[in-house]
Amino acid sequence: MARFMDKQYYYRPLLGFDVPEDDSQVKKVISPYDHEQVVGSIQWTTASQAEKAVEAAWKAFPGWDATPVEERSAILERFADKLEANMAELMALCTREGGKLLTDGVDEIREAVDFARYYAARAREVFGEATLLPGPTGESNELMMMGRGVFATISPWNFPVAIFCGQTIAAAVAGNTVLAKPAEQTSLVASRVIELLHEAGMPKDVVQLLPGDGPTVGAVLSSDPRITGIAFTGSTHTAQIINRSLAARENAALPTLIAETGGLNAMIVDSTALPEQVVSDVVGSSFQSAGQRCSALRVLYVQEDVADRVIDTLKGAMAELSVGDPSLLSTDVGPVIDEDARKGLQAHIDKLKGENRLVAETPVDESIVSKGSFIAPTAFKIDGIDTLETEQFGPILHIATFKASEIDQVIDTINAKGFGLTFGVHSRNESFTRHVAGRIRVGNVYVNRNIIGAVVGVQPFGGQGFSGTGPKAGGPHYLLRFGTEQTRTINTAALGGN
Ligand code: ADP
Repeated sequence: MARFMDKQYYYRPLLGFDVPEDDSQVKKVISPYDHEQVVGSIQWTTASQAEKAVEAAWKAFPGWDATPVEERSAILERFADKLEANMAELMALCTREGGKLLTDGVDEIREAVDFARYYAARAREVFGEATLLPGPTGESNELMMMGRGVFATISPWNFPVAIFCGQTIAAAVAGNTVLAKPAEQTSLVASRVIELLHEAGMPKDVVQLLPGDGPTVGAVLSSDPRITGIAFTGSTHTAQIINRSLAARENAALPTLIAETGGLNAMIVDSTALPEQVVSDVVGSSFQSAGQRCSALRVLYVQEDVADRVIDTLKGAMAELSVGDPSLLSTDVGPVIDEDARKGLQAHIDKLKGENRLVAETPVDESIVSKGSFIAPTAFKIDGIDTLETEQFGPILHIATFKASEIDQVIDTINAKGFGLTFGVHSRNESFTRHVAGRIRVGNVYVNRNIIGAVVGVQPFGGQGFSGTGPKAGGPHYLLRFGTEQTRTINTAALGGN
């Protein structure tokens, strides 16, 4: 591990053709927890290189789609082995480039490994054999799944290996050629991952990596008529831009857009809940990964009669959190991704502090946090979720109270916000729990436990409404949207027998 903590990285776009060095496109990469620490540099993809990459992907598609799924899946399995073998380096890069806790890095790489093995196995089932449909005598009917064409996968920085890999390898194993656009902030780790994928046998024109500016590269990917689908994870706002751009294309087939976007996640706690358990799960969900998980809890609704106990317990737990260097095992909360994020979060905190809403704030050591982009975990009292405009993607918790008689109104207010990603309930009353879970419109409900993200093959992840289109990542249906069906009706009597 230690030898990767000061290694300097340099990558160019990894395309199906050689990309010359171009100093004008090279960006320096610095650590979010120590702005003096340089991780390396990355050359961004120009719009004309992106266009050429689309051309290369378009040409490679027929050959790749005709490659037996067994071979495509085997590449993913070799890739999973390589991710495991290079785990220490990938964890170190996630920490240095993305500010992730080293301990979060283990889960991150493991999740990518699980995606690779799970999608390899699912692809054999979904894309492998023809399903035979009954037909009259002398006629054979087959239902085949094939790739759709050229897919772009556009990924966020908060899971720079897991989400990035999940989208990209799902699209590829289904028979599509792929243009993978990583987030600007985490392009080095994405480059290392794609290098490993190529070493595992993935052809360089089948999966290409286009690091670069979102709007510049995104405009090419969402406007080119040869793109048949986009798998996107990021903000609802960007998903809407991509959707409009895809829809505006002329002479293009109707596209597939698979979007996983933000949430404004809530949890309801009734008076039968156990405050210690509630607080442990709230801290785990709202402040883990510095609150930079799509699944993270943002609004805690506590029934009035237990509110004081829950808040007192929460204050104690927040006072214990350690904020600082993500490479230390003693750290609970690392930095946020960059200065833009820090400034946006700080403005929200200042506004709520100005309204006298502060409930608790974790103390920080100024000499450590002043080196990077840090936000201290904070909790605020608010009147309800409807007073919040958007998700704040950081370690900020909002707390509202409700009376038992108001429960349906509270759920309707959460639903009315339109986001539908995760939701938690803490209660020992089963009929209350089932009533609440049945009324809430979200993709993932968690009862009496921490709110987390995908557990591949077990708890597939994804939302409804403004939070995404589905299908759920890591679930049995995910690969289906990357493929298209063909029926083959064959008059077998007329086959020559060759
Ligand atoms: P976040 O707010 O989480 O950074 P974004 O939606 O801005 O989320 O970014 C998610 C991904 O979308 C990143 O890879 C980013 O580069 C990309 N992106 C940003 N703007 C566009 C755009 N106009 N078209 C396509 N992709 C974009």
